[in-house]
Amino acid sequence: MTDSQNYDAIIIGAGVLGCAIALEMSRRGKRTLNVDKAPAAGSGSTSNSCAIVRFTYSTKVGVAFSWEGGQYWKDWANYIGTDDELGLIDYHQVGQLNLFTDDAERLTKVHKLWDEVGIPYEYLTPDQLDERFPFMDFGWYGPPTRPDDPAFWKDAEGPVKGALWSPDAGYVSDPQLSCHNLQRGAEAEGGEFRFRTEVTAVSTAGGQVSGVTLTDSVGNSVDVSAPIVINVAGPHSYLINQMAGVYDEMNIKTRALRHEVHHVPSPEGIDFMSAGTVGADDDIGFYFRPEVGNNVLLGSVDADCDPSEYVHPDDYDTSIDRDQWKTQVLRATRRMPGMGVPPDHEARGIVDLYDVSDDWLPIYDRTELGGFYVAIGTSGNQYKNAGAVGQAMADLIEAVESGHDHDTDPIQVTGRYTGLKIDLSAYSRNREINPDSSMSVHG
Ligand SMILES: Cc1cc2nc3c(=O)[nH]c(=O)nc-3n(C[C@H](O)[C@H](O)[C@H](O)COP(=O)(O)OP(=O)(O)OC[C@H]3O[C@@H](n4cnc5c(N)ncnc54)[C@H](O)[C@@H]3O)c2cc1C
Repeated sequence: MTDSQNYDAIIIGAGVLGCAIALEMSRRGKRTLNVDKAPAAGSGSTSNSCAIVRFTYSTKVGVAFSWEGGQYWKDWANYIGTDDELGLIDYHQVGQLNLFTDDAERLTKVHKLWDEVGIPYEYLTPDQLDERFPFMDFGWYGPPTRPDDPAFWKDAEGPVKGALWSPDAGYVSDPQLSCHNLQRGAEAEGGEFRFRTEVTAVSTAGGQVSGVTLTDSVGNSVDVSAPIVINVAGPHSYLINQMAGVYDEMNIKTRALRHEVHHVPSPEGIDFMSAGTVGADDDIGFYFRPEVGNNVLLGSVDADCDPSEYVHPDDYDTSIDRDQWKTQVLRATRRMPGMGVPPDHEARGIVDLYDVSDDWLPIYDRTELGGFYVAIGTSGNQYKNAGAVGQAMADLIEAVESGHDHDTDPIQVTGRYTGLKIDLSAYSRNREINPDSSMSVHG
C-alpha cells in the first residue's frame, strides 16, 4: 500500500537530539515529522546515556556549547513549556570532580577555557579532596592499566595533584523521559511523531531532497515528502548518509563504537546519591556518577589499554563483557576502597553504541544534497547539548534555506541563555580533523 503526505521537515530519529530539533522547529512554525523505528522516543542510544552534564571540553567552542546546553536542564519546565503525563525529568546538580593527573595539560587547557567563557570552578588541593570526599582515596595510580598488568596493582605514587571542581555539573536521571518531555513539547506546537516506522529510502528531485520512504513493522511502505530532511539517526547515521548519497562527499565520517557502562553498589555505609558526585578520573581510566538505588555508575574513558570495538549498529554483542566489568570495578575500588567487588554473576550494566566521528566532535551541518541536514557524530558526549543543538540546527536550516552560503560564511549561533557565540564551522562535515580535540569521549 502506498500513501503520500507532506511536511515542512522530516526528522529521522526521535532520540534526544531529534526531539530537541523537533521542539525548536515546530516552535518556529514548521510542520515537523519525527520518524523512529523504535517503539518510543529516546529508545535508541539516548536510553542508555549516562546523561552527564559537564563542561570539560577541549576546544573553546565545545566548552561554550556545553555551557549553553547545560542551562536548558536548569530551566527545563520553562523550556518544555507544557505538561507531560509522565512527569518532567530532574536535573541533579551534584557537581563534577576532574582529577589532575599525568594528563595535567588537558585540564590546564580546560580551566583556561573556563576562564575565557566565564564558567565557575574551584581548584581543590589533595587535602581539600580528602576533607570533602573522605570515602575516596586520592592516590596517584596512573596511567590507566588493566588487571593483567602488574602496574595495575602498584601502590600510589603520592597523591594526585588536585582537582577542578565544577559546581554546575550534574546528571539527568532518566534520559528517555527527557525525550518524552521534548516530544510532548513539540506535539504541543503541532509536531508529529511516528514510531515502529523505518526510513528505508531518501528521495530526491532536481538535486534536492524531496522526502523519504517509510516502512512499518509489517512491511507496508509510504512515501512522505518534505523539502527538508534531517539525519539524526545516532549510531545509524552513516547508513542514512549512504542512503541519501552524501556519505562519500563528507570529509569527516562516523562509525558505531560499542560501549559498556556498569552499575555497582556504592561503598559500604555511603549514601552515594547525596554524598557522591560526577567524576572524571583519567588517572585510573574511568568516569562515574550516582545511579538510582544507591549505586555507582562506572564508565570507561576508553584509555589506550581498553579495547575499542567498532561494529555494525544492527549486529553487536549486547551482553556485558565480564572481563571489562571486572576491570572497571577493580579500578573503582582503588578510588573508592569501601566498594566491594560483586560476584561475576551479579555483573550489571548496559551495552550501547556511540556514534563516533573521526575526531570525536559532532557534525552539525548541511550537506551537498540541498535540503538534507545532519546532526550526527555525537561521540558519546552530546546528550547534555540537546537544547543548544535544537537551536543551532534550527538557526542553520533557516539561514541555509534562505540562501545563506554556510560553507563559505559559517553561521554564528548566539546562545539564547548565555549569549555566547557558537561558530558552527567547528562542526562542519568538511573540517579537517581538529587537533585540539581530546580524540576521546571528553570531546
Ligand atoms: C553508554 C552511553 C553513555 C553516554 N553518556 C553520555 C553522557 O554522560 N553525557 C553526554 O552528554 N552524552 C553521553 N552519551 C552520548 C549521548 O547519549 C548521545 O550523544 C545522544 O543520546 C545521541 O542522541 P541522538 O538523538 O543523536 O541519537 P539516538 O538516541 O541514538 O537516536 C537515534 C534514533 O534514530 C533511530 N533510527 C536509526 N535509524 C533509523 C531509520 N532508518 N529509520 C527510523 N529511525 C531510525 C533509532 O531508532 C534511534 O532512536 C552517551 C552515549 C552512550 C551510548
